[in-house]
Amino acid sequence: MEAPKTLAEAVVYFADADNALNYLAAKRWPNGVECPYCDAKEPMFLKSRRIWKCRATKCRKQFSVKVGTVLNESPIGLEKWLPVMWLVANCRNGVSSCEIARAIGVTQKTAWFMLHRIREAMQDKSATKLSGEVEVDESFIGGKARNMHRSKRERVITGNSGRDKAIAVGMVERGGNVRTAVVPTRRKHELQRHVRENVQAGSALFTDFLLSYEGLAPEYRHKVVDHAVEYVRGNVHTNTMENFWSLVKRQLHGTYISVEPFHLFRYLDEQSFRYNGRKLTDAERFAIVCSQVAGRRLTWDRLTGKDQPR
Ligand SMILES: [Zn+2]
Repeated sequence: MEAPKTLAEAVVYFADADNALNYLAAKRWPNGVECPYCDAKEPMFLKSRRIWKCRATKCRKQFSVKVGTVLNESPIGLEKWLPVMWLVANCRNGVSSCEIARAIGVTQKTAWFMLHRIREAMQDKSATKLSGEVEVDESFIGGKARNMHRSKRERVITGNSGRDKAIAVGMVERGGNVRTAVVPTRRKHELQRHVRENVQAGSALFTDFLLSYEGLAPEYRHKVVDHAVEYVRGNVHTNTMENFWSLVKRQLHGTYISVEPFHLFRYLDEQSFRYNGRKLTDAERFAIVCSQVAGRRLTWDRLTGKDQPR
């Protein structure tokens, strides 16, 4: 049987434990299986248990395909993990933890943790900067902050936007990729730092009129559209970035009923992943998620902020 091209095929294909293991192992270790503890190559495969044993005399550790990935220590089988990864990689408006919980028969809390681990694998870690024509725009994104612990709330919610909103800054290369970040403030140093870190000097930069963008002109060809006056002047507009924000808001309001600002960047990562892979097939987007599971971890404590000092 060939590798799946649709969700229905994926469910059938990955129900076979060998298919699931072989697929994920090939994406995770494109150059052959390596010990995640010591990097030794060609470990021994213990077929009956579907795990490997390192041959290095000083190591000899056993490991599954999940060790050292976002699936680390998860008791959920690959026959559930992989179809869920398929869904998140490809559903335009995302999938909620309630839907996942019902679909695969786990608790909502387990599904929520699974989804966040998958978002961790969707995070774009490429160092290539955006270039050409780049639009920059910030957006206030509503979070339901009322139930958060007060100290945490003060940490994640900011200044001039009212207490229920988080601020995100987005940069998009026209015809190319988008990058986003949740920022504590719209002040100049914060926004300009993100621009400089993500956009190649010399690029054409399109923003709305906000004093925080003033001063980028020496490094960029900076063009401003004043939204108090007009939305488009020739090619001077931020429509691409604004369209992305409406996708985000549709997902947050429709699928994910309440998102704490503390977790907002993960939802932005998810939406950015699908946007950046918009020219790919479902199978290709899914393959990218699988190839990015390794070398990343998301523990419950980090996800819930328990590992941070109060
Ligand atoms: Zn080893």
